[in-house]
Amino acid sequence: MTTALSTSIRSALDACGVDLSLLDSAQDLQTRTPITGEKLFGLPATDADGIDETISRAEAAFRTWRDVPAPERGHVVRRWGELLREHKRDLAVLVQSDAGKTMSEAEGEVQEMIDICELAIGQSRMLYGQTMPSERPGHRLMETWHPLGVVGVISAFNFPVAVFSWNTALALVCGNTVVWKPSELSLLSALGAHALLARAVADCGQDADIHHIILGEREAGEALVDDPRVALISATGSTRMGHEVAPRVAARFGRYLLELGGNNAAIVAPSADLDLALRGVVFAAAGTAGQRCTTMRRLIIHESIAEEFTEKLIAAYRTLQIGDPRDEGVLVGPLIHSGAYEGMRSALTSAQEEGGTVLCGGARVLEDEHPDAYYVEPAIVRMPGQSATVKTETFAPILYVLTYRDFDEALALHNDVPQGLSSAIFTSDQAEAEIFLSSRGSDCGIANVNIGTSGAEIGGAFGGEKETGGGRESGSDAWKAYMRRATNTVNYSGELPLAQGVKFL
Ligand code: NAD
Repeated sequence: MTTALSTSIRSALDACGVDLSLLDSAQDLQTRTPITGEKLFGLPATDADGIDETISRAEAAFRTWRDVPAPERGHVVRRWGELLREHKRDLAVLVQSDAGKTMSEAEGEVQEMIDICELAIGQSRMLYGQTMPSERPGHRLMETWHPLGVVGVISAFNFPVAVFSWNTALALVCGNTVVWKPSELSLLSALGAHALLARAVADCGQDADIHHIILGEREAGEALVDDPRVALISATGSTRMGHEVAPRVAARFGRYLLELGGNNAAIVAPSADLDLALRGVVFAAAGTAGQRCTTMRRLIIHESIAEEFTEKLIAAYRTLQIGDPRDEGVLVGPLIHSGAYEGMRSALTSAQEEGGTVLCGGARVLEDEHPDAYYVEPAIVRMPGQSATVKTETFAPILYVLTYRDFDEALALHNDVPQGLSSAIFTSDQAEAEIFLSSRGSDCGIANVNIGTSGAEIGGAFGGEKETGGGRESGSDAWKAYMRRATNTVNYSGELPLAQGVKFL
């Protein structure tokens, strides 16, 4: 089918450098956009032999890539960042088509790729080890960091290219080679992002085999997970997926880095700047149609301000323009597919059975215009207390509102979920803010004050605790996950003193 959308996608793919002969409707993987629900192009899946061959090539390339000086490896990432800048709009068009994001959010995602490239370039000169004083005279004790080998990256549909770049930019400067299995729901932006990296590698005269993409459904991911030649599996997606991946990688003593589901909350205290809190909550809860891992799913608000704040929130929700994310003014695009819509319906039903009241939203809209796409009104649900549904991540825009009387109760409610990704408190009380950030406060990997739960920056380590998987990516010392550490002792004393004063011979 040739439509205006498929034409613009074809030209964005072409601009990124994707081989258009791949787009053949007779192939086994079918791409479709959540914006209209229309099927776009067929793509060839990588079969088991193809995956095996890909891993072999990545493994062979590692043997030379690891010897390229790290700052020179950084040149590839620098070039990738330049190409991403040049093709920001092209790649954003593909992200928008795959994930249904507004152009501002799609471009923001590509900007995140550019940002991680900049961070990784600097990191390529800072793969620091430590030197420690040795207890023995004439000895040097130190740590050195070395690449792991082949890194397998498995990514989710909702950040189809940014998460790939977080992993790949750092993995490459650390001296690893990368095999990427993108989500089967976001193949077009994956091809675009990958083609730009291929161009960067070629422009720098490096081995094309340092990075690969394999296309397929979860079986392709499983092939990476089970292959002992893949030293690290970095997997982003649902907690269900993490439950399957972690034991399989552990069984072969591989390493894994997991970025899984969240169930993020904000506490709104009576002292909060309520206008600021309102804007923070609306963006975090309804933005990206609730399809961010860091989407705010729970609002824990002091009972004295709950009614007033909730009324304002409902009024703000009513102003949100829902629709085709390519249209001017639209802030909430579609859900990814019918399954996501069914998941939202079923969560709303369960919440009501548990005593919840839907205060606004939840309805499907634009059904006549787009019968194959799933646009929904973001929902706000007042809950009488903690419940099984509230503790479950539903990947759709539902915000559960719970009230509290004292701060300890708020903290207990906050932490009483299996996930531990992102969290926030809106307060002007400094002690409350400090407690929230302390070890008896939020148990999440990300804890914010007077800012929502979503929209993290590259500079800090990103990830979460408990069922979110414990992994950390992007900034700070996240690079260490892509390297192995060796402790080295060098003896220049001419004697052979043993540690701990042990005598032998
Ligand atoms: P998903 O788990 O359905 O799929 C994610 C990826 O895993 C896909 O590429 C899929 O093919 C692959 N996969 C699925 N089962 C597998 C298996 N058994 N072995 C190997 N690979 C397998 O997730 P999704 O629907 O694409 O994404 C939404 C989920 O991802 C949400 O739960 C969201 O919170 C989470 N997410 C988390 C983060 C984070 O950083 N914590 C970021 C983005 C998304």
